[in-house]
Amino acid sequence: MVIAGGGTAGWMTAAALARVLGPRLTITLVESSEIGIVGVGEATIPAIREFNKLVKLDEDEFLRQTQGTFKLAIEFVNWWEKGHSYMHTFGPVGRDLAYIPFHHYWLREQATAGSLWDYSFNWRAAKEARFARVEQISNTPLAGLTWAFHFDASLYAAYLSRFAQKMGMRRIDAKIAGVLQAPDGDVRALKLEDGRELAADFFIDCTGFRGVLIEQALKTGYEDWSRWLPCDRAMAVPSARTSPLLPYTRSTALEAGWQWRIPLQHRTGNGHVYCSAHTSDERARELLLANLDSEPLAEPRPIRFTTGRRKLLWNRNVVCMGLASGFLEPLESTSIHLIQVTIQRLILLFPHHGDCETRRAEFNRAAASEYEYIRDFIILHYYANNRVGEPFWDACRNMSIPESLAHKIELFRETAGIFCTNDDLFRLSSWLQVLWGQGVRPRGTHPFVEAVAPQDRAGYLRDLRGLFAQATQQLPDHADFIARHCKAQ
Ligand SMILES: Cc1cc2nc3c(=O)[nH]c(=O)nc-3n(C[C@H](O)[C@H](O)[C@H](O)COP(=O)(O)OP(=O)(O)OC[C@H]3O[C@@H](n4cnc5c(N)ncnc54)[C@H](O)[C@@H]3O)c2cc1C
Repeated sequence: MVIAGGGTAGWMTAAALARVLGPRLTITLVESSEIGIVGVGEATIPAIREFNKLVKLDEDEFLRQTQGTFKLAIEFVNWWEKGHSYMHTFGPVGRDLAYIPFHHYWLREQATAGSLWDYSFNWRAAKEARFARVEQISNTPLAGLTWAFHFDASLYAAYLSRFAQKMGMRRIDAKIAGVLQAPDGDVRALKLEDGRELAADFFIDCTGFRGVLIEQALKTGYEDWSRWLPCDRAMAVPSARTSPLLPYTRSTALEAGWQWRIPLQHRTGNGHVYCSAHTSDERARELLLANLDSEPLAEPRPIRFTTGRRKLLWNRNVVCMGLASGFLEPLESTSIHLIQVTIQRLILLFPHHGDCETRRAEFNRAAASEYEYIRDFIILHYYANNRVGEPFWDACRNMSIPESLAHKIELFRETAGIFCTNDDLFRLSSWLQVLWGQGVRPRGTHPFVEAVAPQDRAGYLRDLRGLFAQATQQLPDHADFIARHCKAQ
């Protein structure tokens, strides 16, 4: 087996396969240090902890090696309206009661029950820049903090590379100059620039936006989603570290896109994602630099992309991962997660012998559904805005959205309910926070909340607020926690 490309996608795949298969399969990874990696992708979601467990990465060591910090949430500033902000925090909000989701009780008592986010332990900790690995609030049934990470993308790929090579992965530093196909169309070998041929019976394309095997050779095709996710450019720039060290990503909506800010141990990562039909590169650069919290450490670096996904993530004897498989938006930090689930799917449906038709079909069906689900969630942020009079935001608000998302929004308006399955990446609390944060309001609450007496409902909410507030005060400062446990050298 050959992995083409050694960015985050290539090395995550290599590390996972090396861990799962050990020396049973010879895997070679070819990457070009001359081409390099995209070098962005520094914010994650909590599911990455499952990946770390799979490959047996020690969390503190991983953070030390990648200048990493903890992430509890994403703050959305000016998304609904200028001057308004909310958070999409990880983990639950409140605690369900008698089979009815928590937020129905909160909605019923809204006049006196404070903000929805008062019931999120993650929100309280994030706002006060506190962190500790608390799995459960002691002496209560309440969940503790739910966390992901921020890290330096270049250090992450390099760290995984060392890790995978230690486990026996073979690495070749060379440019792929051509893809050789068998008469039936399958890929037979990669032709390297130095003349060598790298033959295999299965290939994983992790060559980033280029899609050297999946697109340049196999012409798989791309489903373009820019009618819903119109941003097509980004400009990234690092800036100095700021204090306090915040345990969350900030996303600030600008006139034709948005800007991210990712706090790391040694610097802050920033980038402006924008729509070239509504603004110029010069204006995007100017806004990016004007909105930095600290001095820039380099010149802004431009990146171009088209949102969407490859029509097939497994075509013939090639599976694609990472940017070779498509790109939604960095808005909800889902790309690295998509790499992770594609690796898991590949392991489950591994092409170990014979005809792969059925497993290939299942692989592609599941991948398409995962991509579409995340797409809808991201579109919601753009669509449900109230930035009236700004051409980019007016266009987003007036676009025709996918039927699946329209249904979800209408169901929330009508029933205040959010319906997810166990396989869905974003669950009730994620949809709730973004729907509410983006100004979508239900017309009522679930009638069964009336089964709990008004004074008991109010008491329940008051007790929860008290417990979350108390637990937050016991958490250490995020920067102190890092200094004690996982400070980079
Ligand atoms: C603006 C932006 C912001 C992002 N932010 C986030 C985020 O916050 N969170 C998140 O989860 N994701 C984010 N992503 C996505 C994330 O960056 C990628 O999913 C991740 O870095 C994986 O990239 P990759 O490995 O697929 O591609 P790359 O990093 O581009 O790696 C491609 C590899 O292929 C090799 N290669 C290419 N062509 C050849 C060739 N001809 N011969 C030999 N080797 C070759 C390159 O050398 C390189 O090793 C962001 C992406 C963008 C564009």
